[in-house]
Order: sequence, then C-alpha cells, then structure tokens
Amino acid sequence: MRSRALLACVTGLALLAAGCGGGNSPEPTAVSTPSSPPASAPLPPEAAPSPTKTKPPKPPLRALPAKLPGGLVRTTGVEQVALTFDDGPDPAWTPKVLDRLKAAKVTATFCLVGTQVRKHPDLVRRIVREGHQLCNHSWNHDLDLARRPVAEIRADLVRTNKEIRRAVPDAEVPFYRQPGGRWTAEVVRVAKQLDMRSLHWTVDPQDWAKPTAITIRKRVKRAARPGAVVLLHDGGGDRSATLAACPKLIAALKRDHGITKLR
Ligand SMILES: [Zn+2]
Repeated sequence: MRSRALLACVTGLALLAAGCGGGNSPEPTAVSTPSSPPASAPLPPEAAPSPTKTKPPKPPLRALPAKLPGGLVRTTGVEQVALTFDDGPDPAWTPKVLDRLKAAKVTATFCLVGTQVRKHPDLVRRIVREGHQLCNHSWNHDLDLARRPVAEIRADLVRTNKEIRRAVPDAEVPFYRQPGGRWTAEVVRVAKQLDMRSLHWTVDPQDWAKPTAITIRKRVKRAARPGAVVLLHDGGGDRSATLAACPKLIAALKRDHGITKLR
C-alpha cells in the first residue's frame, strides 16, 4: 500500500490530502502550504470494504469529492502557526511529546482516536491538564468514514466524543479531523452539527513514513508559512523521529512565526 501510494504521489495522481492515513499506518501526502492546496493519496487497497459471507452487504460508499469540501479550518487565521498531533493517545509517545511541548512552553491540538482514548484515558487527562486542545479523530481511524451513511458518521463521532468525555467529563472537543484527510461535505456537516469545526492542515512533513528527524524538521521549515497548521503524529507507529525532531522544530517555528492554540 505504501509503495503504491507513494508512487501515486510521485506521479501526481493524488488529488486529496491524506495526512495521517490508514489504520495505524498513516499514508503519504505532499508537503503543502496555505497557497497551494495539499496533494493527495489514493485510497489504499486495504481500506476498501471487503464484504464477507457472514455480514450483510454494506451500503456503497459515497464518492470522494475531487476537491476538498468547503468549511475546513486549514490555517490559524493569524501569523502564528499551530501544532497538531494525530492518532494518539499512545503510551510510548504521547507522554514524551507532552514533555517536549511543556519544555518549549507551547500548546498543541491532539487529534484522538476513540479506541486509543478507551485504552489510555489517563493520557487524555494529562493532555487536557497541560492546556492542550482536543480534536476528535474518529473511533477507529476509519479512512472511509466520510463516505459512509450520515447516520454512521454521526454515531462514530458521537461515540468518540463520549469516550473522550468519559476520560475527561465536560472536555471541550472543538475540532474533528477526518482520517486521511478524506473529507466529504457530509462529514463536515455532521461535525458542525456536533459543534466541531473540521480541522485540516497546511503542512504535512509525512512523519508517518519515518523519515529522519532532520528531514521532518527541514520539511516543516520549508513549508511553514504564517498561519500554518502543522500535522505531526504522536501515535500510529514508531514516532521516535517525530519526537527527536520536536525540540528544534518547535524552536524554529517559535522563532519564525510563534506558536498559537487553534481557535
Ligand atoms: Zn490519523
């Protein structure tokens, strides 16, 4: 899947940003900036539903739009940039990312996967306690969620928020981020009905693909513009390179733009 997706990116077939992608293994998307919409990655083969003999057939997936739908938050709206961490909470990486953020005296937005929240509610509590913001990243990182019936989308988002609030009663979850960046107008609308703004990004250094820390840092530095929303990962796999990139990456962003909380 990965090599195919990479190939698609390289050959320019991709149309929509993928960001943190498949299941626990995010997939590629081009580094992008506010002035150039993100490139995209194709649907990985394993993300397609595989009907079994025991289950009734699922309704067909709605088509992905050729362009990102309207209503997405893609910049901070101010000079300062914002950091977002996806696919956690993860006991191996989230505490270390939180340590780095604390040391740098900055806050970020954590896009949480419901099943991870269920396993690690203590980490959600720490995220909130340390002043970070929460974002719903679906129950189980379903790349196709935005293409499913509206009732299914709603049930998934509600279930995830419930789990977050089981960990932190009255937690604010002002954002939703669609796994893989595979947005549809429908998922944006459902998120809005549940009082969540749909959070996309402007800079994706593809840390999921485990480039070196230096490469992650360079990609962010090259693509960061005023108001950028930077996509990173604290879950979904070995995040040691992301972690190692953090101190200098954060210092550079602070120096060049300042880091703000998303509003
Ligand atoms: Zn993700």
